Amino acid sequence: MNSLTSKQSTWNWQNTQEILCPICGFDRYISIYSRLDYLDIVSCQSCSFRFVQPQPTHEELLRFYQEGYFSGNHDFHQDTNYFESREKAIESEQVTGWQFIKQHTDVFNKRFLDLGCADGALLVLARQYGARKVAGVEFSSDAADYGRLHYGLEILESSADKLLFSDQSFDIITAFDLIEHVQNPSQLFDEVSRVLCSGGIFLGGCPDMECFDDWGAEWIGVQRNMEHLSYFDSKTLSRLANKSGLKVILFEYQGFPLNNKQYKNYQALKPLSLVSKLLQPDVWSYNVLQKLRVQLKRPKHFHELMFVLQKVEL
Ligand SMILES: [Zn+2]
Repeated sequence: MNSLTSKQSTWNWQNTQEILCPICGFDRYISIYSRLDYLDIVSCQSCSFRFVQPQPTHEELLRFYQEGYFSGNHDFHQDTNYFESREKAIESEQVTGWQFIKQHTDVFNKRFLDLGCADGALLVLARQYGARKVAGVEFSSDAADYGRLHYGLEILESSADKLLFSDQSFDIITAFDLIEHVQNPSQLFDEVSRVLCSGGIFLGGCPDMECFDDWGAEWIGVQRNMEHLSYFDSKTLSRLANKSGLKVILFEYQGFPLNNKQYKNYQALKPLSLVSKLLQPDVWSYNVLQKLRVQLKRPKHFHELMFVLQKVEL
């Protein structure tokens, strides 16, 4: 067992609760996978949405995020100084989601809101690129404090499914690696739709559960991140978007659907030195092949499902 999985299996949820399907409210589901934290991933028998059942309570999640989510106690940022690495990412414009945002919209003179903004690195970049107003929402007070203090940003501490902003107050809303974390995705999408102006854009990305259909329990997406509560694919995500008055502009598939062993090696490969390539040719060649597949525009079952949605014009 590698350090990732052994660390995760020691995380015990003390309070969980049974829920109805977060998208359609149906009460029957079938279990498709049992996670390392002993919670199940189930599929709704009415709408096929896949989610965790039972779910950790709000207080439990708060405890999880407050206990070192961004300072490395949980696997997500293990052994890295999160805030330091983000500062470097801002300089090189490599903050998660930024290139995708630049590719699909222009932030100049726009009102820009990032959900799950952590220290607000995306907000810093949006401000540099001329956004008229930038604001963020973050569940973890450590990260929010850092962003306010170091970058002078407006960051509200709350969960993203209750937005404390007035109707139609933003032109662009982003959520990278966020929608799979929230307890009430249906409410989140309603809130995004409410806060977006007519014709406004909602961009983001989340793990693509279609990888599970191919890889099953091998897929790293179900092996780690026990804080993930929802497992989206393009079908369930479009259904959710449409229900909230958002239409799908595009889906894009990014990354590589690594299994557990490849992931471990992939982590070890960073940065990709010549020596590492020579030592682990299987992982390196796998990545090269995946990149070729992207070039050939035959994307299928990538790790990340990226989306651009637009609020239907009123
Ligand atoms: Zn359902």
